[in-house]
Amino acid sequence: MLVDTATYAQINADLLQRRVTLVAVSKTKTAEQVKALYDLGHRDFGENYVQELMDKQAALPHDIRWHFIGHLQRNKVKKLIPFVYLIQSVDSLKLLKEINKHAGRAEKVIHCLLQVHIATEETKFGLDETELAELLGHLAANEKEMKWVSIKGLMGMASLTGDMARVRNEFRRLKAIFERVRTQISGFTILSMGMSGDYRIAIEEGSNLVRIGTLLFGERS
Ligand SMILES: *Cc1c(COP(=O)(O)O)cnc(C)c1O
Repeated sequence: MLVDTATYAQINADLLQRRVTLVAVSKTKTAEQVKALYDLGHRDFGENYVQELMDKQAALPHDIRWHFIGHLQRNKVKKLIPFVYLIQSVDSLKLLKEINKHAGRAEKVIHCLLQVHIATEETKFGLDETELAELLGHLAANEKEMKWVSIKGLMGMASLTGDMARVRNEFRRLKAIFERVRTQISGFTILSMGMSGDYRIAIEEGSNLVRIGTLLFGERS
């Protein structure tokens, strides 16, 4: 099966009712699988790798809203600018400056989320609270220069653990940071947290965008 249609219908109806955006994470899956979900009316898809995204973007309808959710290397930013809908994984000021530079050259404002490190694991990317404060300070002090990036909210990934109380606490922390930053930036509305294994908890803790792969497309090899 290309996509689990029954699960999609169920999750989609539930999220629609809760006004939570569903981003279908299609990394490692084929363009054919993306098209199957597209044909059911879905438009928001998430990818982690630039080259894979480029290949799918070229092969698929152009009204797909492509979310970039993986670690982004600065030398690959330029390739995303022409078509990316939302870069969810801005994890350094250097990266944000690079996005701003290429967005300015293309004269196209790029919407971004700041990825915050909430997991207690070392392996996940993201800004810690000090780096987040530094980045926000830079934006506030350089509004004119940084006008080609528009910060729409935060993204975070909880620890990969069966300890759901810990996962809940990590989401709760991100929501608190989100509420604090929200007062400083206009148009700051998106809180992206929750994946296949923890999206219900994430929504209970205030998420309004979830990124789901496995439940829709099956396990990745
Ligand atoms: C892979 C990935 C997801 C989707 O994970 P699933 O467990 O398959 O739902 C969500 N967010 C990010 C950042 C990812 O890399």
